[in-house]
Amino acid sequence: MKLVSVGSVAFDAIETPFGKTDKIVGGAGTFIALASSFFAKEQGLISVVGEDFPTETLDYLKSRGVNIDGVQIKQGEKTFFWSGKYHNDMNSRDTLVTELNVLGTFDPILPSSCQEADYLMLGNLSPQVQLTVIERLAKRPKLIAMDTMNFWMDIALDDLKKTMAEIDVLIINDEEARQLSKEYSLVRAAKVIRAMGPKILIIKKGEHGALLFHGENVFFAPALPLEEVFDPTGAGDTFAGGFMGYLAATNDDSFENMKRAIIAGSALASFCVEKFGTQRLTEITMDDINARIQQFVALSNFEMNLHGTH
Ligand code: AMP
Repeated sequence: MKLVSVGSVAFDAIETPFGKTDKIVGGAGTFIALASSFFAKEQGLISVVGEDFPTETLDYLKSRGVNIDGVQIKQGEKTFFWSGKYHNDMNSRDTLVTELNVLGTFDPILPSSCQEADYLMLGNLSPQVQLTVIERLAKRPKLIAMDTMNFWMDIALDDLKKTMAEIDVLIINDEEARQLSKEYSLVRAAKVIRAMGPKILIIKKGEHGALLFHGENVFFAPALPLEEVFDPTGAGDTFAGGFMGYLAATNDDSFENMKRAIIAGSALASFCVEKFGTQRLTEITMDDINARIQQFVALSNFEMNLHGTH
């Protein structure tokens, strides 16, 4: 298996200034797997759902080439449920409900098909569970990336630091980077965070793009200026899935290739926000993605003659 991802497979109920959904399929693991499936042809998902979760969705993931041997279905139990409401600027949201249900006792099982992963994507979950996944793999993957959130910094900082010491790439947003490092400047924050373990750091800045810190190098990827952001739920997970899917497909962890992977992730995230939940990710084709990647190239590509001083 090239890529293995772990993350929630969930029901979400979302409210934005544009509308409201009942329970729809969501979850970090779902967004990650759908996004990475555009690039990575051999991938597996590790998660847990209740008996109320639609088998059609699991079949759909399978049809996209996602091995779901590691998705446990708990009879008599309910799927994780999350509900959130976005503010008018769409940049901030309130969590209205979190019902852990099956996620509360999640004990990840790594089927033999997933044991030899080259790339591992740890979606946002308790850092203890993330560490367990690393420990249960037969061999250490070539590259381990991890997402987390302020919630875990508040309640499980010691566990988070332990897991961070074992990974290669941390993917967090600017607010989280500041909280974790206690530094306002993102360049300073990056120094502090990379001293905690991850050699490579990606700081997402929402509609303002993302920064990649890799060795001595820094790269800035813009976000596509979109006329309308309909629902940002899952954009971060989609970004991470696209990034890791691209790396797994190209098997190249150089700075130059990580720049391309970030653009691939950004392009997918720009689709994700156009409709509620995972809807848009199920509609787009590789041609759509390539066209959007071209837009990203055009967005920050310029030529300039340098003038000497007299
Ligand atoms: P994002 O918008 O990238 O932060 O991801 C949103 C997704 O994360 C939603 O589909 C939720 O189901 C899922 N989610 C929200 N809270 C949690 C949590 N505490 N643990 C795992 N997944 C969560």
